[in-house]
Amino acid sequence: MQTDLLIFDCDGVLINSEPIASRTLAKALRDAGADVTAEEVLIRFTGNSGSAIRKICIEEYGIEDLEAVFAAWHLDIFPEFARTLEVMPGMDRLVRSLPHQKCVASNSSTERLSKSLGLLDLWHAFAPSIFSADQVARPKPAPDLFHFCAERFSVDPAKCVVIDDSAHGITGARAAGMSAIGFVDPADPRPGRARILKEAGAVLVATGAGELEKALASLQATQAVEV
Ligand SMILES: [Mg+2]
Repeated sequence: MQTDLLIFDCDGVLINSEPIASRTLAKALRDAGADVTAEEVLIRFTGNSGSAIRKICIEEYGIEDLEAVFAAWHLDIFPEFARTLEVMPGMDRLVRSLPHQKCVASNSSTERLSKSLGLLDLWHAFAPSIFSADQVARPKPAPDLFHFCAERFSVDPAKCVVIDDSAHGITGARAAGMSAIGFVDPADPRPGRARILKEAGAVLVATGAGELEKALASLQATQAVEV
């Protein structure tokens, strides 16, 4: 068996957007009266879709005027992306060196993708194959977006490898019948990420682009032995 398609998550894998998203969302929540820090937002919200984030805001932080909070957040987050967003260290070189077909599968909205990854040159390594949960019925952890990617490329899900930094992404990949590599940002302050991603079903976990390169190579070698 060989890998016919590599499916990359965007936030926290290709770009260092999570700290920026958490910082700006925490500010919007605090301005609406919630008692929350950027680190708490990073831990609680990272890897969730827009609809899941809205639910948490209402149920756990008692936000009443959700639209006002999101409008304030978006006023802040997109200029902040334009000012400080960067590619995950080493990822630009790695992505361009991989000979495989590849795409992006993100729980972020198409608007957020174009205003984050779209600001960076790395966008062109994937375009037009940059897919959002907006394009399917259910976001990750459902398998819908991963099936959508496989269908777009007319490949067997069993020959797809997903690289994702959230348990939701790994769970969705496994549900879609794909192999999954867990990715950990070396700068992520959350403890136990490797264990969480392994428990969600990741076959390997890589911390940083260097380890990801080795993980992809070892997965290819394992698959070659299986043949
Ligand atoms: Mg992510």
